[in-house]
Order: sequence, then structure tokens, then C-alpha cells
Amino acid sequence: MEKISRRTFNVKITKAIVGTALLSNLPLSYAFNSGKKQKLGIALVGLGGYAGGQLAPALQNSEHCYLAGIVTGTPSKEEEWMKKYNIPKENIYNYDNFDSIANNEDIDIVYVVLPNSMHAEFCIRAAKAGKHVITEKPMAVSVAECDAIIKSCKENNVKLGVGFRMQTDPYTQEIKRFGKEKPFGDVKYVSSDAGFIAGSWMTPWRLEKKMAGGGALMDMGVYAIQCCIYGAGANPVSISAQEFSTKPEYFKNVDETITSQMKFSNDVVGNMFTSYNANGNRLFVSYERGWAELNPAHSYGPLAGRTSKGEEIKFPYKPQYQQTIQMDAFAKHILTDSPNYAPGEMGKRDLMIIEAIYKSIEQGGKTIPLDLGNMGIVEV
Ligand code: NDP
Repeated sequence: MEKISRRTFNVKITKAIVGTALLSNLPLSYAFNSGKKQKLGIALVGLGGYAGGQLAPALQNSEHCYLAGIVTGTPSKEEEWMKKYNIPKENIYNYDNFDSIANNEDIDIVYVVLPNSMHAEFCIRAAKAGKHVITEKPMAVSVAECDAIIKSCKENNVKLGVGFRMQTDPYTQEIKRFGKEKPFGDVKYVSSDAGFIAGSWMTPWRLEKKMAGGGALMDMGVYAIQCCIYGAGANPVSISAQEFSTKPEYFKNVDETITSQMKFSNDVVGNMFTSYNANGNRLFVSYERGWAELNPAHSYGPLAGRTSKGEEIKFPYKPQYQQTIQMDAFAKHILTDSPNYAPGEMGKRDLMIIEAIYKSIEQGGKTIPLDLGNMGIVEV
């Protein structure tokens, strides 16, 4: 009985997320108001590892958006991307002439994939150009910058999303469901690890506080924080943290390893670990009557999971880029006002938690109270 209802739910949730399936079941008139574009044009800003390795390929299979333009500071990439992705010359910009994108009707969404300290500037410039905005995680390098981005998007009447691809991942949805429907009872404890071993393959800005805003916490820590939140089904109300440095000569001005303890508004307690010097890719949720685990919990997928019932968590959907699902969900949000799975407020919430973690470390691990209200818990 449990198995059947779970599968039924999973099919529903997968269809809700994967626009293709949803649209195949409903008339187009439901999804799109007449006169609106059926596919939105995305311009990627910053053609580095993530834009080239994940986002551009993911856009080749998307249902509601496509790669319409690029913004790059490297002239050699213009020709390369133009040929590879059949992008017209008039849809190619650099960081200086970027603002003239306002006049380009092919571009509906600007996706900022730059080093963290550049997110705020380009999100605000994109909003002022009248374009909807997706910014990569972390949303920015401070809460103040997040506020400025949110304000600018509101003032310019454009939608804002953060590139939290896990929020639209079906495995993540299943963990959220366990929290809401309580098949194993109430959540009691969550634990998450997110890290990798840094090396010379990394682009150097990640080790510069000025560009990255921080180290492992700003990068992988975001996944561990989000895992704990959707595992707990609530936001934290207090947090304490410790920093460990085993290679200070390498991690000169960014954090290497951080552990943090959280108490959530529903009395769940949690523990997270993030590092640039250890691998971690796991979410563990302990319930009154069992447990669930995702491992991997945040890599490019497919993820894998199991529960204390001895069952693998599995989904009836064809393997695809998580980023395809993520960008399609955002385009659909613009086109049909369907849920925004990762709004700016969620990105700001994570920065509030990050700032509290750094504050606790500065104060020798003191517990810092957090007042997040319901920020960032998005009902889907
Ligand atoms: P890269 O270093 O690989 O690429 C960044 C790109 O930004 C560069 O290639 C360059 O593109 C542009 N750029 C502009 N100015 C600078 C500068 N001063 N220094 C360095 N690069 C500059 O980074 P990633 O692609 O790995 O990360 C970009 C963003 O995406 C980050 O915020 C990161 O956290 C996020 N990310 C998210 C992931 C996810 O799973 N959601 C995964 C990986 C990254 P150009 O030559 O075109 O100007």
C-alpha cells in the first residue's frame, strides 16, 4: 500500500517538475497565455566550467527555454560558442556593452554564471535591462547584496531565481515529501556533508575571498545548508559553528573546513560539514520510526537514495540534466506563474545562515539566534 501511494505521488511530482510531462497531459492553453512566447531565450553570462559543461548542454534539451545568447569577456569564446551553438552574432555581448541587451527581444532571461562577487552587479544590470534573472549559487557574497538584487528585480518587474538545481530534483522532492507526509513519523535529526578536495584544476578565484566571498562554505556549504533545511522541513532558529584549518598555507584567506550545528523551528536538530579538503555528498534524515538517506545528495545526478525499509528511492523518469529541469521550471514560472522553486528570498536566507555561521566562528562557536520566519520554504 505504502509502495503504491509513494509511486503515485512520485509520478505526480515528477510530472509537475518536468514540463514535458505536464504539457503532454494538459492543453497548451492551460500552460501559456496567448501572445506569449512558448520558448524563452536565455543568455549565459560568464562562459566558464559550469556554463560550458552543464548549462549550455542542458539547454539543448529544454522544453521552455533555449540558449539564445552569451556574454563573455574572452573574445575567443565568441566564435567558439557561436559555431557550437548556432548563436547569431547580434546576440553576443561582452561585459562593457552588456546593458544594450535591453534592446534585444531574443533574450528573455539573463543567467549569471560569474564568480560570486560579480553576481550582484550583473543581476542588477540585467534587471535594469528588463530581463528576468537567474543567478548562480551562492546568490551573492552578502545579505546586503541579496537585498539589492531582490529590490532591483521588484522595481523592474522581472522574476528572480537562484540556480539551486537540487530544488527541482525528484530525489530532493521525495525527501521533502517524507517531511510533510510523515511516513516515518516526525523528523528528529538531520545531517549533511558537502565537500571536495581542492586542487590545481580549480579556477583560482575560488581561493580569493574578494572574488568568492569565502571558501568551502560559500561553495559546497550551500548544499549542506539546503539539505539540512529540506530534510528538517523547516528553517533553523539558531546556529553554532567551528572552522578547522589543516592547510593554512594553501587556504590563505578562505575557509577550508566548517562544521555547524543547527536547531530548527520544529525542534529538529541538525549537523552539517563542508570542506575543500574532504569529499562529502550525503544527506541523512532520522525520523521517529526510521531514516532516509541520499548519497549522492547534490552531484549532477542521477542521485541515489534509500530508506530504513530497505527500499531504494527510484523515479520513473528518463535521465536528463538536472539543469534542464531547473531552467524549464523557471521558464514555466515566467510563462504560467507556476511555482518558483528557488526564489531570491531563498538565496538571501542562505546568505543569512552563512553570515551567522561566520559570526559564530568569530565568536568562538557561540550560538547565534536566527530569525528567518518562513523565508525560503517554498510550497510545491
Ligand atoms: P569558472 O571559473 O569556471 O568560470 C567563471 C567565468 O566567469 C570565467 O570563465 C569567465 O568567463 C567569467 N569571468 C569574468 N570575470 C572573471 C574574473 N575576474 N575571474 C574569473 N572569471 C571571470 O567558474 P564556474 O563556472 O565553476 O562558477 C561560476 C559560478 O557558478 C559560481 O558562482 C559558482 O558557485 C557557480 N557554480 C554552480 C554550480 C551548480 O551546480 N549550481 C556548479 C559550479 C559552479 P568569460 O571568459 O566568458 O568572461
